[in-house]
Amino acid sequence: MDNIQVFMRIRPLSEDEYRRDRSSESAVRMLSENTVCIPSQRSETFTFDHIGDENCTQQNVFEAVGKRAVDQCIQGYNGTIFAYGQTGSGKTFTMQGARDEFTGPDDELRGLIPRCFEYLFTRIAEEEARTLGRVKYLCKASYIEIYNETIYDLLDPLTRTCAMREDIKRGVFIDNVTEETVQDPNEAYDVFVRGTTNRHVSATSMNRESSRSHSVLMLVIQSLTQMDSGLTEIRESKFSLVDLAGSERQKLANTSGLRLKEAANINKSLSTLGNVINSLVDIGNGKSRHVNYRDSKLTFLLRDSLGGNSVTFIIANVSPALCNDMETTSTLRFAQRAK
Ligand code: ADP
Ligand code: MG
Repeated sequence: MDNIQVFMRIRPLSEDEYRRDRSSESAVRMLSENTVCIPSQRSETFTFDHIGDENCTQQNVFEAVGKRAVDQCIQGYNGTIFAYGQTGSGKTFTMQGARDEFTGPDDELRGLIPRCFEYLFTRIAEEEARTLGRVKYLCKASYIEIYNETIYDLLDPLTRTCAMREDIKRGVFIDNVTEETVQDPNEAYDVFVRGTTNRHVSATSMNRESSRSHSVLMLVIQSLTQMDSGLTEIRESKFSLVDLAGSERQKLANTSGLRLKEAANINKSLSTLGNVINSLVDIGNGKSRHVNYRDSKLTFLLRDSLGGNSVTFIIANVSPALCNDMETTSTLRFAQRAK
């Protein structure tokens, strides 16, 4: 399996889009199981590891992405899942689930986050049983938002800002971020619900949309192995679930002040992410390249989870509507750079 995997997901046409297009024709044409083109936008083709069309279920995405990411984390690798795409393309649907209210464990429309939690704790129980308790796992969750290159702690009710630090032992970390020990999928999901609620409250009070910030839910998974010598070996992996800011072209014209800064920061952090991924692909192909993790808060925070001992999944969410074909093309171009 490549270290960087791309899953393209086409959501169903919405009613609004149907009305706008006056057609149910899709802007995206499947050429094979994993190749598409956008006929209205020249003859460029795009090839990914997986493509889910409008019939793709939450379970399908979980099996191709979530399950594999969790399996890697249990084995000690870092795993990161990014949802990329324009606002309205289905990022939050993919990560969280269908509705605004939070979904229960039997809900077929629940997204990757609850499914990954369920699977993670099932795997942990299996591993602990298999090793007769010689290996124990400990999970800690944190949940932050990056808005305008500032980090906010979503588990703090006041969503206080935090600084990133780096040291030799810990690598990159967020100073003073709230970390909560979670022992089962419900506790982990509770943390997610609480943080998401704080995020909405804070976004509303600051008069901004959550589509303009990145959210990063991170689980630190420690395995503690009781050695014959009596010592305990500790291994740690990080599992990060990232719902990115909308990738739509930001209008810089006729914009000033905070809005301009905000737009410029979104552009910069997404393009830095693209550059970092591009460099990692080159390194994977044997070319030597410098990786500019420091060019944005997001890539610096995830430095230890991108490249090296890690696996990265990018879910490229797109709308099938003809009226969105330009944005869809640019999402696919971004995702193609990872392959
Ligand atoms: P984003 O987070 O990228 O802005 P959302 O996830 O909020 O987009 O999706 C926009 C709308 O489309 C929501 O009403 C969502 O429920 C719906 N939607 C997105 N993806 C799907 C899908 N695969 N199936 C059904 N509805 C979807
Ligand atoms: Mg969203």
